[in-house]
Amino acid sequence: MSKRDYYEVLGVSKGASADEIKKGYRKKAKELHPDRNADNPKAEEQFKEANEAHEVLKDAEKKAAYDRYGHAAFEGGMGGGGGRPGGGQGDFSSAFSDVFDDLFGDFMGGQRGGGGGRNRAARGSDLRFNMRVSLEDAFSGMQKTINVPTAVNCSGCDGTGADGGAEPTNCPTCSGMGKVRAQQGFFTVERTCPTCSGMGQIIKNPCGSCGGQGRVEKERSLSVNIPAGVETGTRIRLGGEGEAGMRGGPAGDLYIFIEVAKHKLFEREGTNLFCNVPVSMSAAALGGDIEVPTIDGGRSRVKIPAGSQSGRQMRLRSKGMPALRGGGSGDMFIELAVETPVNLTSRQKELLREFEELSEDNNPESKSFFSSVKSFWDGMKS
Ligand SMILES: [Zn+2]
Ligand SMILES: [Zn+2]
Repeated sequence: MSKRDYYEVLGVSKGASADEIKKGYRKKAKELHPDRNADNPKAEEQFKEANEAHEVLKDAEKKAAYDRYGHAAFEGGMGGGGGRPGGGQGDFSSAFSDVFDDLFGDFMGGQRGGGGGRNRAARGSDLRFNMRVSLEDAFSGMQKTINVPTAVNCSGCDGTGADGGAEPTNCPTCSGMGKVRAQQGFFTVERTCPTCSGMGQIIKNPCGSCGGQGRVEKERSLSVNIPAGVETGTRIRLGGEGEAGMRGGPAGDLYIFIEVAKHKLFEREGTNLFCNVPVSMSAAALGGDIEVPTIDGGRSRVKIPAGSQSGRQMRLRSKGMPALRGGGSGDMFIELAVETPVNLTSRQKELLREFEELSEDNNPESKSFFSSVKSFWDGMKS
């Protein structure tokens, strides 16, 4: 078989510049694209030829050898120092994928990525998992095991989707491109290949366990680290723990959405905690120490100043929630709620009456207040 002249193959003249050679090659590669040559069995052969010619002529050293010795420069053992033209003898698909990005990457919007134009391995979906935690757990952080219903790689086919783990073959309709183009009037319309649904590959014997999907539904057990300080609305991302991809594609991510349950004692505002603490009337009046529960499960002693009124707020520094991203803790605020005693014994009542009389004697203003209230009620009764 006599080989055609490389310049002729690319449709350029003998003394063509590097730029002209590149242009000539691009033109040929477009002409010979498999999508446009479904009924031309020679296209593949010609494409290889153009690719081989380009491999030689784009390389200054090889080009010089070719200009001097012709094809003999690259035949076994002959001089010229050119060696074999790289890539020219490679198989069609790999040679094609080399130029594919170069030629079509731009107007395809890069959607095909670096895989030589195939998008057979679709990424798995991201998953959302809602988790409700107690305020105590949000305070301390914790390790929690969750069961996530998801899709995992099929073990029967190792994620390939083909029976026995066989390699899928290129789709004959689209030659592995995943898309087909059709002429409609003046326009070339590109659409997803109907044979392979855009995967670029087909499976002759689908795996029985997954029906060719390469993944199966399964509940997966995951150990999740919940950091201290989470609050309602915190999202924790677990990269690659989402659904398995189709036919061995990359897995999606798992997002854990935190909801912190309402606490019976504490209200939370950012890192600060608020709680109401009941104190007896006598403790509020006389002052004293009380013990209050804290979110860490312990108790703190708080000094109540004599004469404290209901609603008085006191701060316990650093007894609040930890900040999620470090930087210390918030404070705990307690608000006193003075309790009026109920179910008094007769002795207690007696003492309180005595207390009231003493109060009136001590405080003429309060006496006049009490007497005015008394006269008001007396007026109501009559
Ligand atoms: Zn399978
Ligand atoms: Zn196809």
